[in-house]
Amino acid sequence: MSSSDEEGSGEEYLFKIVIIGDSAVGKSNLLSRYARNEFSAHSKATIGVEFQTQSMEIDGKEVKAQIWDTAGQERFRAVTSAYYRGAVGALIVYDITRRTTFDSVGRWLDELKTHSDTTMARMLVGNKCDLENIRDVSVEEGKSLAEAEGLFFMETSALDSTNVNKAFELVIREIYSNVSRKDG
Ligand code: GDP
Ligand code: MG
Repeated sequence: MSSSDEEGSGEEYLFKIVIIGDSAVGKSNLLSRYARNEFSAHSKATIGVEFQTQSMEIDGKEVKAQIWDTAGQERFRAVTSAYYRGAVGALIVYDITRRTTFDSVGRWLDELKTHSDTTMARMLVGNKCDLENIRDVSVEEGKSLAEAEGLFFMETSALDSTNVNKAFELVIREIYSNVSRKDG
């Protein structure tokens, strides 16, 4: 322990965030883009790791986000309550080129409500916005669903990095401000 650790404010922040949404919408790639700046053209099951931890600084404090990714269990609608336990933020992801994934958002929101007892920072994410030529869900549709459900909204591309950091950071900042408000 360095002396600065001992003399610090003593405040530590660690927030659990979950990523949900239908299979192949780009959840794992959004996380790997944010946490490691990596993208994979192939869909692959998450092996071993359940979450990635990413730090950012807010108000001069280190804020850590523990971001959970599914290991493909969403394909069988079998995301367990352990996955949601303790989460204070969520990204609900759909693929702007596949309307069925947008139609599923309501079901994911219901599941989220079932499993969470705290106020969550929630963001609706329309991923794959680099594929404008085969877009199947308009920006307006995403926006109005988000407004109706009281969610933040962003379109992202894990492929070309559009809005990926912004989306995660906005959720983390929102959680932080919820928590620091509560602390007084
Ligand atoms: P998950 O099942 O939701 O975790 O989805 P993956 O991250 O495994 O991605 C599914 C497929 O979509 C993979 O082939 C990715 O390369 C592709 N993909 C993910 N994000 C994007 C994106 O932003 N743009 C494009 N064009 N493809 C993407
Ligand atoms: Mg995945």
